[in-house]
Amino acid sequence: MPKAQETLLEIDLKALEHNVTYLKSRLQPATKFMAVVKSYAYGNAAVDIAKHLETQHADYFAVAYTYEGEQLRTSGITKPILVLHPQAISFNILIEHCLEPNLYSLKVLKEFVATAENLNQKNYPVHLKFNTGLNRLGFSEADIPEILSLLKNTEAIKVTSLFSHMGASEDLNEKEFTVKQIKTFKHVTHLLLKQLPYTPMLHMCNTSGILNYPGAHFDMVRSGIGMYGFGNSEKENSHFKPITTLKTVISQIHQIPIGDSVGYNRGHISNAPLTTATLPLGHADGIGREYGNGKGFVAINGQKAPIVGNTCMDMIMVDITTIDCNEGDEVIVFGDYPTAEEFAATANTISYELLTGLSQRIKRIVLK
Ligand SMILES: *Cc1c(COP(=O)(O)O)cnc(C)c1O
Repeated sequence: MPKAQETLLEIDLKALEHNVTYLKSRLQPATKFMAVVKSYAYGNAAVDIAKHLETQHADYFAVAYTYEGEQLRTSGITKPILVLHPQAISFNILIEHCLEPNLYSLKVLKEFVATAENLNQKNYPVHLKFNTGLNRLGFSEADIPEILSLLKNTEAIKVTSLFSHMGASEDLNEKEFTVKQIKTFKHVTHLLLKQLPYTPMLHMCNTSGILNYPGAHFDMVRSGIGMYGFGNSEKENSHFKPITTLKTVISQIHQIPIGDSVGYNRGHISNAPLTTATLPLGHADGIGREYGNGKGFVAINGQKAPIVGNTCMDMIMVDITTIDCNEGDEVIVFGDYPTAEEFAATANTISYELLTGLSQRIKRIVLK
């Protein structure tokens, strides 16, 4: 790869392949794999990633919103796509593109049945989500009689899967909570399965669920962050390869005399001779203000260069006093070192937020 001459996000499909292969090695052969590609595949490049996974690895895709699924369909993705958080206003578009909704409340179920009947659908595939403790989206056990009666009275929809979502699968201190979620899921799905004339698939594991709860894989698992290179623990991270490298370049170098300041609002005042490099990325690119003032750091020639002063909209300044480098040199914001997880931690956040928050104005380069 030639050295970066501007801010670039490199996405390594070989690393993606490695991660998916590893995740699948943790499954029973019959367990289906749903590739979660919501939010531009966690900031990467959803279409390229979905195209790469569609041929062999993914049985299913998941996105959050209807327009994300629409984008995959118009790019030629044909495998089933679950829309995790569809809004009733887009149900027509969802059906037009053969996207499959998560229906999570009686209100949403009724609204979807009405739309599907209106469009003369028969056995349209839908997924019913149960709340088992996350308290975010999902039916409760008390909804089951009404769900069954609604299903009995329409031919427009057919339930492809029953699912739930774990709230703390990465946190082994919360094992008791997760085990209770699994038990609740088994209980509610049992109540439905014994009444339905057919057998929907069951699924509840995200990446950390796959890794930590092999007994809860059911018929399918849903992975996002693992595919992108993070196992949510030091032990598991060693099995994954980050697929994303954010690179940039040194625009200009400044020598800062003692007493001078750097950046807006004089965020840093120099009390020792300081050399800074100005880089072309800032909070508009997803590197928030929390990273400023010495918290976040980038790597130049493998050496740590802390951010000096406040993060600007389109620039950051970093301390290169002890680093031998020149204007035009490449800078690694995150990748192998620091990793996105390490970089995110400097601002008290997580890889998920850092990756999905990267602005679409950053050029994506997909390495095949
Ligand atoms: C985002 C999401 C996932 C993927 O979670 P990871 O921790 O990234 O693997 C799975 N299921 C649901 C319902 C989600 O919203």
